[in-house]
Amino acid sequence: MKDKILVHICCGVDAVWALQKIQQEFPDAQLKGFFYDPNIHPEEEYELRWIETERICNNLGIECIKGEYELDKWLETTKGYEHVPERGERCTLCHDLRLEKTAQIAKELGFSKITTVLMMSPKKDFNVLKEVGESIAKKYGLEFLAIDFRKQGGVEKMNKLSKEFEIYHQNYCGCLYALFQQRKGLDYIPELVSFGKGRLPGSREELLFIKDIRTFAEKEGLLCREYPFDFIGWKVLSSTMKIKKEPVHHTILPFSKSIKGVLRAKVSKIVEKEDKFIGFLNKTNTQIWILKDSLKEVPLEKPRNFNNAIFIVGNEQLEKIQVGTKVELTLKTEFDENATSQNLVIGDLSAKEKIFFHSDTMPDGSYSDKPEEIKREILKRKNEILEGRMSIVVTGAYTFGKLGELYLQEILENQEVSQNL
Ligand code: SF4
Repeated sequence: MKDKILVHICCGVDAVWALQKIQQEFPDAQLKGFFYDPNIHPEEEYELRWIETERICNNLGIECIKGEYELDKWLETTKGYEHVPERGERCTLCHDLRLEKTAQIAKELGFSKITTVLMMSPKKDFNVLKEVGESIAKKYGLEFLAIDFRKQGGVEKMNKLSKEFEIYHQNYCGCLYALFQQRKGLDYIPELVSFGKGRLPGSREELLFIKDIRTFAEKEGLLCREYPFDFIGWKVLSSTMKIKKEPVHHTILPFSKSIKGVLRAKVSKIVEKEDKFIGFLNKTNTQIWILKDSLKEVPLEKPRNFNNAIFIVGNEQLEKIQVGTKVELTLKTEFDENATSQNLVIGDLSAKEKIFFHSDTMPDGSYSDKPEEIKREILKRKNEILEGRMSIVVTGAYTFGKLGELYLQEILENQEVSQNL
């Protein structure tokens, strides 16, 4: 009878070599993956790790089940151990929970053996995992396969394959306590803060969007490649605007810098310009844009430097804002010099015809390309892509002045130069 092995999977990076190693050691076994990560915080990170796990399993021809995101259960299990350092008792409880669930599912599905790709991670204690795994498996009448995936250059193989598959590489173990310990000294942890309904350039949500499209395209047998690029990220942390002490609905133009304290000023001049009126203030170079349309977020047409603060209001404020009007403004923004986004190319980058979409949106979710629309286009153009006549490109950081397109342009120009040499 065939061996049936259920493999607990925590992320694509740990899975990519470990699964191949199991396939090599047990060539006749029936393998199934079980992604179970209730420890991961925030949920977008959990989804990102899942989508990368699914992509790797698809590539290796292994079916994978997505476990439930039981965060409350994990918080309850690790209660009282919040401040324990990584590799301590909290981690043992965390492994217990994940392996116990794996054993339960294995039993339900009629599997005889279980294992976990957690044994791949250089940060995990192999002997602790072996002990926990064996005792849980015994309880359920199963066998635990303690495989040291790291042996014989396993870590190097994992790193090499991660690069080849362009797998999202997380920079923390997963739980909020480990993140707090890693980022101690910060007022808040940007990774744990949601900045609205949108997919901001360089955010986890933007990357999740790209990975979802990629998984879809690869399932259709199409070649995909990601081209990451670095840029300076920007976010609004808080802002207020008052006219005659009344709060006013507004948005902020990307790359506006913070205002120190509260700015109390008067409108000194108003100038009409295409789709808006620009209100200049008497004290600083802060501006108020009064749109001729109703209030909306305004993306950047081209990159803008870290510069004067620009508040944007809708045409309903046209009568209220006149020369001499007193305004009260506050603004706190954050810059991130280590932001990364990526362009996804489906098909051959040098194909003559290209269809462009983008992955990011404004903070309120506007300027969004819908995933269904992109997927429809992929299916419609599949043959042309396979024949190398066309590619579909999903660019990142579009709302920050079409940054992704500019980076891609640079790559294409460099390719052209090297071909002509
Ligand atoms: S540090 Fe990692 S293994 Fe330890 S409790 Fe947090 S998520 Fe679990």
